[in-house]
Amino acid sequence: MDHADQMEKMKKKDHADRADQMDRADQMDKVVNLCKRRGFIFPSAEIYGGFRSTYDYGPLGVLLLRNVKEAWWKSMVQMRDDVVGIDAAILSSPRIWEASGHLDNFTDPLVDCRQCHSRWRADKISGKCLSCGSSDLTEPRAFNLMFKTHAGPLEDEGAVAYLRPETAQGMFVNFMNVLTTARKKPPFGIAQMGKSFRNEITPQNFVFRTREFEQMEMEYFVPPDEAPKWFDYWCDTRMEWYKSLGMSEERLRLRHHAQEELSHYSTATADVEFLFPWGWDELEGVANRTDYDLRQHAKASGEVLEYFEPSTGTRYVPYVIEPAAGATRTMMAFLIDAYTEDEVAGEKRTLLKLHPGLAPYQVAVLPLSKHDDLVPLSREVLSLLQPLCMCDFDVTQSIGRRYRRQDEVGTPWCVTVDFDSLEDRAVTVRDRDTTEQVRIPISGLVNEISARLAQFQ
Ligand code: ATP
Repeated sequence: MDHADQMEKMKKKDHADRADQMDRADQMDKVVNLCKRRGFIFPSAEIYGGFRSTYDYGPLGVLLLRNVKEAWWKSMVQMRDDVVGIDAAILSSPRIWEASGHLDNFTDPLVDCRQCHSRWRADKISGKCLSCGSSDLTEPRAFNLMFKTHAGPLEDEGAVAYLRPETAQGMFVNFMNVLTTARKKPPFGIAQMGKSFRNEITPQNFVFRTREFEQMEMEYFVPPDEAPKWFDYWCDTRMEWYKSLGMSEERLRLRHHAQEELSHYSTATADVEFLFPWGWDELEGVANRTDYDLRQHAKASGEVLEYFEPSTGTRYVPYVIEPAAGATRTMMAFLIDAYTEDEVAGEKRTLLKLHPGLAPYQVAVLPLSKHDDLVPLSREVLSLLQPLCMCDFDVTQSIGRRYRRQDEVGTPWCVTVDFDSLEDRAVTVRDRDTTEQVRIPISGLVNEISARLAQFQ
């Protein structure tokens, strides 16, 4: 290939890369817009101009987020006999965070721009202020990310409490409580989902990085010599979970940390990453945390945090494999991955190709028109399906527009009640992705929808 050809090829590639980047940025804008417009996610305190990158989950967002968490709980707790759940307090003792090392080490490097006085996380900018472009930055200093507050009426040192910055420590401090009550022995796990709080220097990218967010974490306690095996097992198992819920394989990867990237207590870590509009970024970290946490808490509390194996008469401090995922971040990845535009009968449409188990509504019951005759039968159909799954009920606007609205929020099946239904006691079931419609007797509808749901379980 001569020089001119090479230049031409590079120009084309550059052009394609930029077009790809623009497409992805455009897709992000569209998803954020859809979230606001259709009631998934609202900026918090919007009537007061918003509040510091916090978000509220609307009627559809709360359903999607619950479904993500329930899918995690089902695979991590319900479908196993070696994992149990807990729900520990958010408001927590400073002694936990002193022992875990968070009081000293849970920091990000903070720099100030001397020109425009904005503040940045030094490891997320390459030496240049992202607001004004100046390189005149202060030396980085350690900024602790924990939210500090006071429990009780006195605001003195003795009343200091922290909002947990992760759910994991709840599992370590309850290790003996669970061990003695749950009749489990290593290898076994303790799982928890819930809110965590980090005073992030620069929250960004919608709900990807916020100061208040939800995590789904599990600590799996194993005999020390089995830790490498279980680390591999959990890396594979967690990757499979995302795939089983329909996340595109080409947007998903497992990235092993290099030696220099590992935390001081970890001997192996791998991140499950998703290709976000701004590039590959973390959804979940799987780490071999060794016996670090249990030993730290044993030392600080004076309690014995060990497992005693009666058959051999031996005691040991288990190693821990931790798959730690973000619920809100994962929800956002599912939304981005599901966002699709296609054409139906020459008309552009937007749809969320969400897995039926994640979609806010599994079914929408739609009377063909708001004619009085159709509403009672439609309500009858609705109450047949409501015990089975989450249903929407929408009466107004043309049926075509209502189909589009349901496509846009990811409802896999629309059930339409028309004037023939009054005679033949049958309804039309329309599929979101193929738009195919089939006629089903009302008497067989619950079985039909159950069978469709079962295909995705
Ligand atoms: P990051 O490097 O993105 O700050 P982290 O490695 O500190 O994340 P962990 O402490 O491993 O994150 O937390 C486990 C998971 O919790 C992350 O993979 C992510 O999905 C989620 N998470 C962490 N911080 C936030 C945040 N500020 N907003 C939303 N989700 C978060």
